[in-house]
Amino acid sequence: MAGWNLQRGVITDYNPDEEKLWSLFNYVFSDACSKRNTYKFGFIKSLLDNAFNGMENSEGIFFSYSQIFARFAENYWNLVVKYDLRQMRSDGKSVYSNVEKILKEAVDNSVCAFLEFSSLDVIKQSSVISRVASECRKYVVGALYNDFDGVIYSFDLKHDGLVLNYRVYEFMLKYKSELERLNYYSWAKFLESVNEDNAVVHLLNKLEFATPRRSDLSIYREILRMEFEENTCFYCGRKLGNKIHVDHFIPWSFVKDDKLWNFVLACPACNERKNNRLPNREFLAVIEDRNKQIIRKTNNRIVLNEFSGYSDDLLIKMWNYAKMSGVKEYSLKT
Ligand SMILES: [Zn+2]
Repeated sequence: MAGWNLQRGVITDYNPDEEKLWSLFNYVFSDACSKRNTYKFGFIKSLLDNAFNGMENSEGIFFSYSQIFARFAENYWNLVVKYDLRQMRSDGKSVYSNVEKILKEAVDNSVCAFLEFSSLDVIKQSSVISRVASECRKYVVGALYNDFDGVIYSFDLKHDGLVLNYRVYEFMLKYKSELERLNYYSWAKFLESVNEDNAVVHLLNKLEFATPRRSDLSIYREILRMEFEENTCFYCGRKLGNKIHVDHFIPWSFVKDDKLWNFVLACPACNERKNNRLPNREFLAVIEDRNKQIIRKTNNRIVLNEFSGYSDDLLIKMWNYAKMSGVKEYSLKT
């Protein structure tokens, strides 16, 4: 558990090559890297899920602890509350880690045990997130820094977040799907060793389904429709009728996040035909232009918040990486 009590750390190598990064990630996923609980997997997953939300600064890409641990808490909520999967090797005193205890307590105090995390009231959500964050700041941030030989990020627990090494950030975008799968595999292996056989049925599916996903996208539809007067289908240009679909331009299956800049309004026919695929490259210029206009026009705080971390070349980068990770392209030209 070396490193868990580190208070701060600086990046030890700003220019690691891919071989070095693969070696470090493979080490962290392996059994050789010590783990009493699954926090390290949960933390890597939260970084991957937040990959497109960081803010570039002079040193690298900044991620706030609150954005990382909001994801962490919600993901664990599903694993612990919904699927009842233990996340720690019993230490003789307890079979539950502190994060599991925090989540279980939150359930005990609520009316309904099968609540979605997002349906808890906002005050309760933020209290859970801040308790989870303080536990993880203490036990994961320094430990993982140490496991990566100081290459992955710089951090100071007194600050609001960490700064991901720019090379690591690029690597994580490029190999997002591969890293996700390796992380799931190692996480599943750990879970199999600490859970009863009946709890680990469909384990990999449970890990994948634990990723929080908004089912109600109506707030995005209203913002795009009302605030930016989008009345036509983004793809075919026909006037939108009563049924307006909100489409993830780059599919959710790759992004694992819901952000306004990746949403377009589409007619049901285009949305259903496109499904989980990438639109033609030509649409990249159109959505980039649309996003530029949104940024120029708005002073709505919700909208601006959605755009934190967005940059001009982000969608093209995502498009290329999604394609590389096997997402198919679909011709939407009419
Ligand atoms: Zn259409």
